[in-house]
Amino acid sequence: MFQRVRLRLSALLVAIFLALYILTSILIYSLSVRLMVGSVDAVMEATAQPLVAEVSTSFNRGQFPTEFVKLTKLSSLYPKVSVIILRDALGHVIASTNPQIKSNFPYDFPDAKTSQTTVESPSHQYYRVLTKRIMNPYKQTEGFLQIGLNIDRDLAGLKRLSEVLWMVAIAGTALAAVAGLYMSQLTLRPIVRSWQQQQQFVADASHELRTPLSIIQLNLEVMTGDPTKTIGENMEWIEVIAKETHRLRRLTQDLLTLARLGAPREQVELEAVNLPELLASVVNSFQLSASAKGLQLTLQAHLPQDEVVATRGNPDRLYQLFTILIDNAVKYTNHGEVTVSMEKKRSHVHVAVKDSGIGIAAAQIGYVFDRFYRTDAARVRATGGSGLGLSIAKMIVDEHAGKIFVHSSEGQGTMFTVHLPTI
Ligand code: ADP
Repeated sequence: MFQRVRLRLSALLVAIFLALYILTSILIYSLSVRLMVGSVDAVMEATAQPLVAEVSTSFNRGQFPTEFVKLTKLSSLYPKVSVIILRDALGHVIASTNPQIKSNFPYDFPDAKTSQTTVESPSHQYYRVLTKRIMNPYKQTEGFLQIGLNIDRDLAGLKRLSEVLWMVAIAGTALAAVAGLYMSQLTLRPIVRSWQQQQQFVADASHELRTPLSIIQLNLEVMTGDPTKTIGENMEWIEVIAKETHRLRRLTQDLLTLARLGAPREQVELEAVNLPELLASVVNSFQLSASAKGLQLTLQAHLPQDEVVATRGNPDRLYQLFTILIDNAVKYTNHGEVTVSMEKKRSHVHVAVKDSGIGIAAAQIGYVFDRFYRTDAARVRATGGSGLGLSIAKMIVDEHAGKIFVHSSEGQGTMFTVHLPTI
């Protein structure tokens, strides 16, 4: 699936490159042609102007332009042009600086005083030809002055330019294709990764949902197998069903929270949250379950007198964050204590949840924030965890521009520290 997308992206890149390149090449080529023609025409114009003036004066005096004819013999006087031709009104050649050039230059352009054109000679040479009509004061044509300039070298230059442009086009297309493949791979990498994660998530979630559902089904089958039994007699199975239903409810609740936290559009209501108050309330809600396990649960706030420590956030989410951490601390501690402490550090507040519980092995500590990760599936099975709590906690911390850290040593205890910006 991604291979096709990759190919399409590269093809798009090649198409964009080619379109831009063709446009630029056309621009470069036509500009070069215009520049070449412009400079050739300028040379011919500069040569023609004094000659036209001289020839028309002779014609006007009714003389044959003998001086001009003499001048044309000295063709070295006009090194920049290839040929200068003087014609009479009928087009017959009167004089030419280079009789070798058997000119088939067109001369009679009706109504035009000056005209430029490009001509191919019988010997396949190319000339740019400037023709000037020489008029008498009665607006009658007396003759034509023509200047020809061989442009073979300029045309060869243009041909070379077009060859280079073609070569660059071919090399550029190949390069664009390679670059396109590489860049599309780079672009798609995070998409592929998140797609794979999504796939994994769906697989894990289905697995997690299937397990309690299978247990419920099994227990129901046991009960329906003997319809004569009373509810009291089936209590053992009913209790299992109730426990698994509770597990399912928690799991779906966690999945919903994850989906909501991950949704980009959900706007979180932010307000000033008094952290000591919030922590006191979470700690209170766990006092019963902690003392039921014989644990000492305390809140220590290292704060100067009367100082209010507040963060900008969503109180429900923050409540959920500390509930997850304290719930885990109580859950994974069999004796000793759980301490929640708070400390203000310049622009941040550090909240630590420390327990003297079973701890996390060093090799597993890097994965505890992953979805569905449980350090020991069998052990956790007994505590009913889904492995989603810490990934939800991490998302809440991220959402509040904070950071979360974990320190633990197996068998000795764990400490989760949350850093949140204060206001
Ligand atoms: P769960 O619902 O299984 O507790 P969490 O995402 O909250 O899922 O935690 C992931 C895993 O990290 C747990 O299964 C447990 O193995 C480990 N863990 C979390 N908190 C603690 C703790 N305070 N002490 C020891 N292990 C912990």
